Amino acid sequence: MTRKAQGQEPRPETAAGRVSSHHYRELLWQTLTRQLLLYFIPLLLLAAFFHVQYLRLIRDSQRAHLMAVAEQQARTLDLYLRERLVNLGNLADDPVFARSCRSPATLAAALPRLRQTNPAFVDLGVVDAEGRLVAYEGPVKFPGPVSYASEAWFHRIAAESRASVITDVYLGLRGQPHFTIAVKRDTDQGPTIVRSALSPDALLEYLTSLEGAHEVNALVVNAQGALQLIARPGDAPPAPSAVLPPRTPVRGVLDRPNGGDAWAYAWLRETPWALVVHPIPGTAGTQALLGRQNRILAFTVVFFLVMGIVIVVRARQIVRKQLAVERHEAELSGQLVHAARLASVGELAAGIAHEINNPLAIIAEEVGLLKDLMNPEFGTAVTPPDLAEHLGFIHEAVFRCRDITRKLLTFVRRTDIKIETHRVEKILDDVIGGMLGTELLLANVEIAKHYDTDERPIQTDRNQLVQVFVNLIKNALDAMPQGGTLTVQTRHRDSDVVIAIRDTGCGMTPDQLERVFMPFFTTKPPGKGTGLGLSVSASILKNFGGNIHVESTPGKGSQFTVELPYRIPE
Ligand code: ADP
Repeated sequence: MTRKAQGQEPRPETAAGRVSSHHYRELLWQTLTRQLLLYFIPLLLLAAFFHVQYLRLIRDSQRAHLMAVAEQQARTLDLYLRERLVNLGNLADDPVFARSCRSPATLAAALPRLRQTNPAFVDLGVVDAEGRLVAYEGPVKFPGPVSYASEAWFHRIAAESRASVITDVYLGLRGQPHFTIAVKRDTDQGPTIVRSALSPDALLEYLTSLEGAHEVNALVVNAQGALQLIARPGDAPPAPSAVLPPRTPVRGVLDRPNGGDAWAYAWLRETPWALVVHPIPGTAGTQALLGRQNRILAFTVVFFLVMGIVIVVRARQIVRKQLAVERHEAELSGQLVHAARLASVGELAAGIAHEINNPLAIIAEEVGLLKDLMNPEFGTAVTPPDLAEHLGFIHEAVFRCRDITRKLLTFVRRTDIKIETHRVEKILDDVIGGMLGTELLLANVEIAKHYDTDERPIQTDRNQLVQVFVNLIKNALDAMPQGGTLTVQTRHRDSDVVIAIRDTGCGMTPDQLERVFMPFFTTKPPGKGTGLGLSVSASILKNFGGNIHVESTPGKGSQFTVELPYRIPE
């Protein structure tokens, strides 16, 4: 079973114990990204969504409004044309007029009356069943007899007994744009058609005076796509129109291919003309809409700007707080590491006491011997070389004691972290051969070292790494009270070195394995274990950018594997 160290590790400020500006920047970016993803981006998406919806709504309502204007104007135009037909029909139905309608005098009297009903009427004419213009009153001076027999409108009206017709706008014989309306009546002289030419300008004038006309450009198009009336100065009907609406549906909105404002159209009932409108840019309505859009845009920009500032300020606050927490944690971690080291020292003390006892015994023995040699009762003469030899032994023993206490102090002292390059194999040798040498000898443990021949130095703090190895090796020894084999192996990879410490001890149950890196978890009796060794080791290794994991089989042994990068990440 395998378990990897995680959780509880105190976050490093850095391995060197100082908060670098790089770390600050990294944290700030992380926090900013998180805040942006959490608040800014969703809001931005929401704003974009609503903006699109708003634009669509505006567009739809603009189209609906345009459609309403087109329909309204088409209806009014229909009414206008119907009224003109009624005017002409009433004249034709007048019995006095009907009796003498082929007389120029009757027409001369009737035209002013007709023009009184509407000034759009330009002239008045009477056409017989063969299409001949038999009487005429108006501004045009025809050079000779006029016949409409070949005109389409005449064929249409002649085919029905009582009918009326409205023609498209054309130039005709007079060379002036006009359109004709005609009504047919059966009189004593046979079928008679009363016709009048109307000025499209009057119709246009009427159209532009309608409600809402100032908001739109209106044009009237016939079924062939020729302009009948145009609101654009300079164009003369019947010029070809840029737009020809479909016959079905009879009203609708046409999208412009270049993406400009849409056209709305409505076909007239009285004659196959379509009224087409499109909004005039810069009118009060469109200006108000544009103004509102700009206000919304400005508000959105300001809102996101303020939000951006709030996010940055908040992120800086969060980062500052987090750094304070990290600093505090690092302090606690330092205290914990030191406490664990002291605990290990307590355990080491027994072995060290034994080591110190040996030189002390030698000193005591040598001092006793010297005393005896110098005692005149024994009658032996002490020669300087003898003295030097014994003093030499004492000197040697004293220095051994000093070495041992120095080693102990190095381990206990809360030294500053010193990141230097070291060889892991050398540190392992120092721990196995020096610090824990005696313990290993006494424990009846065979040591197998399998060091990688491709040794490469790593960046580390020697004292802390020693602490890790002491913890691991002491645990291994504790797991093998009857002796066994301790295997220490190193393997250098591309970016890190792997150190494996394996024992043939009691191993761990899955439950123990689960909690092995938790602080204060111990299976050892009070006074022997603190439960801090592995949690502190894991935290130290984490600070170096490394990690530790364990595999263990109950009754067979355990292996702790440490992975350390050659360089400590910033
Ligand atoms: P301590 O040694 O003070 O108990 P550690 O954190 O070093 O604290 O170890 C925690 C526990 O993990 C030990 O009490 C022991 O139960 C278990 N353990 C650690 N190393 C080994 C090992 N090599 N073999 C078996 N058990 C181990």
